[in-house]
Amino acid sequence: MSRGMDEGDRAYRNLIGGEWVEAAEGGTFDSRNPADTSDAVGRFAASTEADAVAAIEAAQRAFLSWRESPPTSRAEILYRAAGLLEENLDALAVELTREEGKVLASARQEVRRTAQTLRYYASEGLNIAGETLPSDDAATRVYTRKEPLGVVSVITPWNFPLSIPARKIAPALAAGNAVVFKPASETPLMGVRLAEALHRAGLPAGALNLVTGSASRVGEPLLRHPAVQAVTFTGSTAVGEHIHRAARLSTRVQLELGGKNPLLVLEDADLELAADLAVKGGLELTGQACTGTSRIIVVDAVHDAFAAKLLGKVRRLRVGNGLAEGTEIGPLANESQLRSVLSYVAIGKDEGAELLFGGGRLTGEPYDAGYFVQPAVFAQVRPEMRIAREEIFGPVLAILRAKDYREAFEMANASEYGLSASICTSDPERMEAFARYAEAGVVKINLPTTGNAYNAPFGGMKLSSTATYREAGREAMAFYTRSKTVYHGFRGIKDGGMAF
Ligand code: NAP
Ligand code: MG
Repeated sequence: MSRGMDEGDRAYRNLIGGEWVEAAEGGTFDSRNPADTSDAVGRFAASTEADAVAAIEAAQRAFLSWRESPPTSRAEILYRAAGLLEENLDALAVELTREEGKVLASARQEVRRTAQTLRYYASEGLNIAGETLPSDDAATRVYTRKEPLGVVSVITPWNFPLSIPARKIAPALAAGNAVVFKPASETPLMGVRLAEALHRAGLPAGALNLVTGSASRVGEPLLRHPAVQAVTFTGSTAVGEHIHRAARLSTRVQLELGGKNPLLVLEDADLELAADLAVKGGLELTGQACTGTSRIIVVDAVHDAFAAKLLGKVRRLRVGNGLAEGTEIGPLANESQLRSVLSYVAIGKDEGAELLFGGGRLTGEPYDAGYFVQPAVFAQVRPEMRIAREEIFGPVLAILRAKDYREAFEMANASEYGLSASICTSDPERMEAFARYAEAGVVKINLPTTGNAYNAPFGGMKLSSTATYREAGREAMAFYTRSKTVYHGFRGIKDGGMAF
């Protein structure tokens, strides 16, 4: 079988050792459309530890030859997979919207971004280089080799179910590692589609293995199996902390976690732009982006004018099924997201913040079929409130009032997270100071907190990331390679002579 799908029953399988196989125990689970839960997107293998172990062992075997394959052929496979995704862009974007909920335009952008990422790492794989060092002994050559690690576990969230896996899997494969990929249980179809593209592009058996199913059944081997050399994870800070503790001492761990990303609005800001940045950064993707804007820190002088502008824009947003023409905000991804967002709205009210707009579940047609909320705007939010400190991961904006730039800056940095931070101002000195001193891995100036280039490093500070390796861009390659130092003695060359 060359594809993960059986057209008749839309049942999809794991990819292990180059074969599409059912879970060892035969279990399945369904993925549903969060805009219309009567729409089943597909049925997937409910894997258990046995499947995870089989995938790891297949990767271990494949690694021996994959690591020695010509870098050019690895690059060509990544290139071909990118082409397959793009050829299929229309259908794939619709599936992505049906499975995750984001609006179709965002889904199309994610498919394109995924293809670009695969191509980018096809090329980066050809730039892996060690160095030759000067040696005190002329008859000894001292050099470093950059080698792949071996088996890498890739564990990913549902919010960017194609592009986040791609920015881990592509550099891992380009460097010659073998991968075991566990997509989020919310979005297994996108995991299958990515694996399918790489498989059809000619990836040898076992170089990439896909295991779908709940982390509670398959998670442990992916973290603890002695063959696993590295774990790269994107998801919540709570699960990240568990992975950090559970992984073996010798296993390399990369964690991309949550955020509580601020947008500062200063007195010299273009308020129209500032309100657009808040809407785009905070509400697009239904607020379900790790770099989403969730704290809007506005200086007193423009607070009321900004709030009024923002409200005007939020009121007009069209919430609905992401496949429907004109929809700007899709549903939340699942029922637990819906419950969590509604509970944060209640918490905000209890804490004494002023709910200016939204925050309720939407009902009636077409909302009853899915997990829709009206985007919420809170004002009078104080820094100690939970809605100002905790990641909500939904369409909830909290406006905090600051006396002046200094207080706004201090509020921005007073967070246990440090992923993305944006400032809206026309003052070049404050732009530069913010770029230097904001405690965030990504700084935006007059741009939304969301959005990042595939060729630029990505990651956070504090609880948003492990402090060791960056993702994306060239820096990502460091995680997937390690150096070995070789001392090569030349018996024939004496006293640094020319050995004529
Ligand atoms: P999550 O609940 O942490 O899950 C992420 C992945 O980890 C899923 O594949 C999940 O599998 C798996 N997992 C859960 N428990 C595990 C365990 N004990 N051992 C091993 N794996 C485990 O996160 P999510 O709800 O999918 O995504 C939302 C979160 O991701 C937010 O906090 C967001 O900020 C963060 N995020 C961060 C970035 C970034 O780059 N910094 C980007 C996007 C999202 P199951 O689905 O089977 O439970
Ligand atoms: Mg779903």
